[in-house]
Amino acid sequence: MQKNVHIIGAGISGLSAAVRLANANYKVHVHEATQQAGGRCRSYFDAVTNLTIDNGNHLLLSGNRHAVAYARSIGTEAGLVGPKRAQFPFVDLPTGQRWQLDLGDSRLPLWLLDETRRVPDTGVLDYLALMPLIWAGADKLVANSIPCDGTLYHRLVQPLLLAALNCDPPEGSAGLAGAVVRETLLAGGQACRPLIARDGLSAVLVEPAVKLLRDKGATVQFGHELREFATTGDHVGELKFGSDTIALGPGDVVVLAVPPRPAAALLPGLKTPSKFRAIVNAHFRFDPPRDAAPILGVVGGLVEWLFAFPQRLSVTISNGDRLVDQPREELALAIWSDVCKAAGLQGDLPLPPWQIVRERRATFEATPEQNALRPGPVTSFKNLFLAGDWTDTGLPATIEGSIRSGDRAADLVLARP
Ligand SMILES: Cc1cc2nc3c(=O)[nH]c(=O)nc-3n(C[C@H](O)[C@H](O)[C@H](O)COP(=O)(O)OP(=O)(O)OC[C@H]3O[C@@H](n4cnc5c(N)ncnc54)[C@H](O)[C@@H]3O)c2cc1C
Repeated sequence: MQKNVHIIGAGISGLSAAVRLANANYKVHVHEATQQAGGRCRSYFDAVTNLTIDNGNHLLLSGNRHAVAYARSIGTEAGLVGPKRAQFPFVDLPTGQRWQLDLGDSRLPLWLLDETRRVPDTGVLDYLALMPLIWAGADKLVANSIPCDGTLYHRLVQPLLLAALNCDPPEGSAGLAGAVVRETLLAGGQACRPLIARDGLSAVLVEPAVKLLRDKGATVQFGHELREFATTGDHVGELKFGSDTIALGPGDVVVLAVPPRPAAALLPGLKTPSKFRAIVNAHFRFDPPRDAAPILGVVGGLVEWLFAFPQRLSVTISNGDRLVDQPREELALAIWSDVCKAAGLQGDLPLPPWQIVRERRATFEATPEQNALRPGPVTSFKNLFLAGDWTDTGLPATIEGSIRSGDRAADLVLARP
């Protein structure tokens, strides 16, 4: 007989657990509170720009092996696109200087020895000073591990770690930063090719998973918010939704894949991160210049990364709490001014149709203090496991961490007697 597994939350972590378990012949039931799957990684139609846009531009790297394997498992690996080489063009807005970091194909960091491939005005010794990050503990601050000033910091380390940690790098956990560096930069150029879901996050990472699940006989219910667990001893016995209750059988299992705040409300006493940081994205309906790079690093401005999509220029600003209450029009104008400079657009171009998406609780704060609050996947209930980018994955809050947590929860379900 098929065993039942209930997945609470259809974000990327819940979907990855669901897909793994459906492929292992479990009878999967996904319960999602909202009307759409994807959670913090989703697309929607925006009437102002008349485009389908993502809530945020999501960048993956080819070394994100769980994310790539997940896309492969739902048949959309080809939808993650990027340049063949790990090349990252940058522009410094105040000086107008442009350069390209070229990590090449080799496992060895040969690019460090070539001044045309590394960051201009930096030397090999600057990079060697970053080595302590590789073995730093999670309780250590980035500021206490590596130099947080100078040319290399401002042109590479700061943009990279700000994007990965979503907090000001010096206050971030050196251990989390080190994990990112080990799995990408240190793994060589082949692990650092940028990958984007060009046709949209939902089309590439979400909808095909929901379709696969339904094709395999799983149920995926929207508007089905879990309100409470009923427990008996060391087992969850019932799932209480607003309008209905599901009684669990002896072999039934639950994977709770919701963000930290609902998880803590459902499981009183659960230790979770409690501080979060915003990410701001702006989308402009504008045909990118023909020579526009798919992703451009922007230094010294408000904008941090500029993405070129068909008919759209989009920007990401991490650690964006300072911008969440700024009037939208004012913010759009300031960002558009940076976009024009970064994309090399001539003249004072009027603001095209735009949209700003401010995700206030985009990620937990990747500080040592908050990282110490991340629980593992096992709970005090034998038939309940946790997933989510905020659980203790060893990575900051990323798609890779989220999928890893979903895979880990699924493996624990599979390992049950
Ligand atoms: C703007 C932005 C930009 C980002 N950029 C990047 C990037 O470039 N690269 C990268 O790797 N990562 C990025 N991330 C992070 C990435 O999106 C997240 O790590 C990932 O989507 C988290 O997935 P999750 O499943 O862990 O959680 P969530 O996406 O939060 O999913 C949880 C789900 O549970 C549902 N839920 C909540 N409560 C209940 C309940 N009681 N019952 C049922 N369902 C419930 C929610 O509605 C949600 O669908 C970004 C995030 C944001 C917001």
